[in-house]
Amino acid sequence: MLWPFEVNQIGAVFGLGSAVVCNMISFCNCFGIIKKEKNERPTHGVKNFFSRGLLPRLREEENVSYSGEFTSNTTSGDETDSQPRANRSEEILNLRAENDMVCRRVPVKVTDKLVRAEDEDGNKMINEYVREYRIGSGSYGKVVLYRSVVDGKHYAIKSFHKSHLLKLRVAGSETAMSDVLREVLIMKMVEHPNIVNLIEVIDDPESDCFYMVLEYVEGKWICEGSGRGCALGEDTVRKYLRDIVSGLRYLHDHNIIHLDIKPDNLLITREGKVKIGDFSVSQAFEDDNDILYRSPGTPVFSAPECCVGGRYHGKASDTWAVGVTLYCMIMGEYPFLGKALPDTYEKILNNPLVLPDDINPQLKNLIEGLLCKDPKARMTLNEVAEHRWVIGDDGPISEYLCWCKQKKGVVVEQQH
Ligand code: ADP
Ligand code: MG
Repeated sequence: MLWPFEVNQIGAVFGLGSAVVCNMISFCNCFGIIKKEKNERPTHGVKNFFSRGLLPRLREEENVSYSGEFTSNTTSGDETDSQPRANRSEEILNLRAENDMVCRRVPVKVTDKLVRAEDEDGNKMINEYVREYRIGSGSYGKVVLYRSVVDGKHYAIKSFHKSHLLKLRVAGSETAMSDVLREVLIMKMVEHPNIVNLIEVIDDPESDCFYMVLEYVEGKWICEGSGRGCALGEDTVRKYLRDIVSGLRYLHDHNIIHLDIKPDNLLITREGKVKIGDFSVSQAFEDDNDILYRSPGTPVFSAPECCVGGRYHGKASDTWAVGVTLYCMIMGEYPFLGKALPDTYEKILNNPLVLPDDINPQLKNLIEGLLCKDPKARMTLNEVAEHRWVIGDDGPISEYLCWCKQKKGVVVEQQH
């Protein structure tokens, strides 16, 4: 379950931001089709860079040219007459919520009252949750383990200070608050065994604190050291990859692009099941048109098309990140890593993929398919689901019967 791997190397490299053009809102796939005219609003090409040397990914204001120089976050011609990507996602997600297009059997609980107290042992409490200890630090807030006095279960609570989020600029006029709100909106939409479940949101207008109560996933890939000795065995990797592909395929089917797939955001349950977490840079699309302009993810996981600026397809870039994750799991190191950001991009763009001679040929074929530099020729998640190495003894990865599909099935049955 624990995977030794050098995560600090990630801190040396960065990613870019995102935006997209559209002048109508429409939904399809699992969410049916709705169309609504919207007013166009200009984007803001404002430069607001400040150093984040140790952060694993860049926010939108930190636009880096391929030459390695930090440049202003100007919009490309395609996006000048549209809204910033984050606002578009918010509109799309709000419209889905208003139209009962939420793919969840159990809706996320929304609590607008925060009560702080202490239990009989002097442990701090927020509402029904007793604080245990910190389990993670986020880019904007912290993640703390709590236990509910109602059901006795553990929960991971991600907390933020609203005033801090509102002060933190991420792109143009947007603040970190828009990232967090988008993360919540996305998590309120989805429910899948391989996706971390959002249970409750606590947002008291009287308090500066904002909490996301998440199912607690106890395990994580611990990344220390690098090299093949630190890699995972093929059977474990196959199991993990199947989970990642199942969760990500579900997200893509619902027109949600994760944009930061990497071991750090893939949590592992006690039973060895992978759960995709951290939707803080994810985006929602109205349909299959998944064009993005800047990549907000972690550079070493960035697809070649994201390293050169300009437009790219979100789904294909997520698929590349799955390839990097697979390579890491098998090899115990990154496929393309330079000493600094420009070297990393240079390697992602130009270096050939190197795999050992003794690697399983089916696995080699899969890694090469995922880490194909041309996004058009890159293997898709559906192809991965049916790949010989992935099939193993378990067969192709089956499509998940999500709540939208179950609801549709119920309606069809009732009509007959
Ligand atoms: P950020 O956007 O800041 O990276 P994450 O959502 O990735 O925030 O959370 C930061 C860290 O907190 C994760 O890498 C993980 O270690 C821990 N964490 C987050 N969610 C959970 C969870 N549901 N269960 C257990 N640990 C979690
Ligand atoms: Mg994270």
